[in-house]
Amino acid sequence: MDAFLRAAFERRLGFLTPLEAVGENATIVVETAIADCWNERCREKTQIITSIEIATDQGAFDFSLPDLTDHPHLLAEILQRLPSSFDRKVIQKRYSHTQRRSYVSNGCARCNRLFGEFMLAHDPSETDQIATFPVRLDSRWLALLSSHPDIEISQPAWWVRA
Ligand SMILES: [Zn+2]
Repeated sequence: MDAFLRAAFERRLGFLTPLEAVGENATIVVETAIADCWNERCREKTQIITSIEIATDQGAFDFSLPDLTDHPHLLAEILQRLPSSFDRKVIQKRYSHTQRRSYVSNGCARCNRLFGEFMLAHDPSETDQIATFPVRLDSRWLALLSSHPDIEISQPAWWVRA
């Protein structure tokens, strides 16, 4: 409560939507895991991206690869930041017969089968952080953030500016 009162006196309180409150800077954290191909004649092991987190002053927001389908520039920026050991060709826009649409997905490094999102439900202890980098939350990042359900459903509230 002290921090809240101090912020009030210093006029750092604002009645803002969460998107207005996130500030200008964030850290992107990319996590991967090893997936087994579900094609019985392949069974190759592939390192896949399981989550892309945007950590802001107001909390962290998790995204998956399909969420980046409409944000190709952000996807390119993220891929650029991954270590060279990561096989970028597993990340592609593929057609899903289940979802009847094309979206950015993980796929098998050998047979290129699409790995659906159900395969991304991994034990967090088996995931690896392969990249962490700072970004300025420009309009492109804010457009992605605004699609997050926690932000979409949120109403304006009193926030303390950093
Ligand atoms: Zn395969």
